[in-house]
Amino acid sequence: MSRRIENFINGKFQKSKNSTIPVWSPQEGKIIAEVVESTNDDLEKAIKSANSAFNNWSKYTLKERAEIFYEFRNHLKINIESLSNSICKENGKTFEEAKAEVLKGIELIEFSCSMPQIINDEIQEVSKGVECRSSHIPIGIVSSIAPFNFPIMVPLWTIPNALVLGNCMIFKPSEQTPIGANKIAELLKKSGLPDGVFNVINGGKNIVEEICDHKDISAVSFVGSTKIAKIVYQRSTQNLKRCLALGGAKNHLIVLPDANEEMASNDILASMSGCSGQRCMAASAMVGVGEIQSIIDKIINKAKNIIPGKNLGSVISKNAKKRIESYIDEAEKQGAKIILDGRGIKVSGKENGYYVGPTIIDYVSPNMKIAKEEVFGPVLAIIRTNEIDEAIKIENKSKYGNASSVYTQDGKMADYVTERVSAGMVGVNIGVPVPREPFSFGGWNESRFGVGDITGRSSINFWTRLKKRTSKWNENDKKNWMS
Ligand code: NAD
Repeated sequence: MSRRIENFINGKFQKSKNSTIPVWSPQEGKIIAEVVESTNDDLEKAIKSANSAFNNWSKYTLKERAEIFYEFRNHLKINIESLSNSICKENGKTFEEAKAEVLKGIELIEFSCSMPQIINDEIQEVSKGVECRSSHIPIGIVSSIAPFNFPIMVPLWTIPNALVLGNCMIFKPSEQTPIGANKIAELLKKSGLPDGVFNVINGGKNIVEEICDHKDISAVSFVGSTKIAKIVYQRSTQNLKRCLALGGAKNHLIVLPDANEEMASNDILASMSGCSGQRCMAASAMVGVGEIQSIIDKIINKAKNIIPGKNLGSVISKNAKKRIESYIDEAEKQGAKIILDGRGIKVSGKENGYYVGPTIIDYVSPNMKIAKEEVFGPVLAIIRTNEIDEAIKIENKSKYGNASSVYTQDGKMADYVTERVSAGMVGVNIGVPVPREPFSFGGWNESRFGVGDITGRSSINFWTRLKKRTSKWNENDKKNWMS
């Protein structure tokens, strides 16, 4: 019998007879667990427990709440090996990638621990004897819904900030990678988080719709594909909730002939193949400007050292492998040149695993499907252009707008491109331009619906509401409180 992943409600894993969804190990292609499908009743129970915890939790001082997250940070550090192994198992990453994910999670917690230093309510004497003060107040019960690709890090984009700011949460992980969230729940409990403040419910479409509809949930944050981000954003806001929904991506790397070849080739390769290309920040389309053949040659040569099963993990599922390979098939049919082909890969000892080798496709034209859609695999499509404005135009046409990068040694050119690309996060000689806290993470266009970003300073406004107090004091009516 495989392991059963249950809901975590009111500080306890619930025993249930719910129906389940199989959880696969993508490296081995076998079922490793079953995750329960939460019912409406489960959601009601989780909301009831969050409701009763909120009164007490929201009255803790910021510092008292942050102290629990200092503890949580330590627990994550102590458990880094087992957490990384668990990510490898359910998600298919390499151990090094999984460890980097946990380390980034720790960094996110550190930001939440600094809230007492960051949030100082504003007070000003706006006219003689009249004072205005604005304070950040928790919203109440909030929800966070996550994708499969970072089972620990993406949950930690929202959990620490939302909770330190005084909210209680219903968390819904991806049904493909539900183990990470349960580990987070266990460690939060160990860190002293009161029961009911953090609850995990499981499942897919049905339970997400229940979350969007539930009258007691005030805010929904979502990370996943654009198709579902739109549905969640529309449904939540129609129910008058605030919502921030991050979607998919198609990130363009613009490469100029003056780029440092060694640095650019290493970086582009790491961006397209890291986490098997299953990152919303992954390089997906490289747009070369002018004579960049020697950089392409270097990328191809170095890509030969990326070995599936060794320093390249698997993709998440059989379906994902099929989808990625069909993008490559179609590009080939349409006349693009497959220079490095990762289709049909089998890893010795892991023959059932879902592996796709690094794939480089040259002479891709901007109207091909592979140039426009999110592939979410270790595939780099190279589009050749003659002019920088032509390259920028291609980037601007994308419906997405998560990230974009430019490779050049010319500072003015870097400014020129930064100003013109239509993306929320821009890299200069960096292919995965993830901003570090207190800077915020979030894209533009169809890579994000809602206002503000999901991490860093920007998240404070999402997880709180402002209370503005205006007071008038009569100078002649002094009270001596000390008498
Ligand atoms: P997904 O959209 O399939 O699933 C995300 C969540 O939505 C899961 O919890 C899932 O259970 C739920 N869901 C699935 N179908 C649903 C439906 N019909 N109605 C309501 N909820 C539904 O995404 P995924 O495949 O898990 O993750 C990969 C996607 O996430 C990629 O597109 C990637 O770019 C994106 N992503 C974006 C960011 C970002 O910051 N913009 C970060 C990470 C991942």
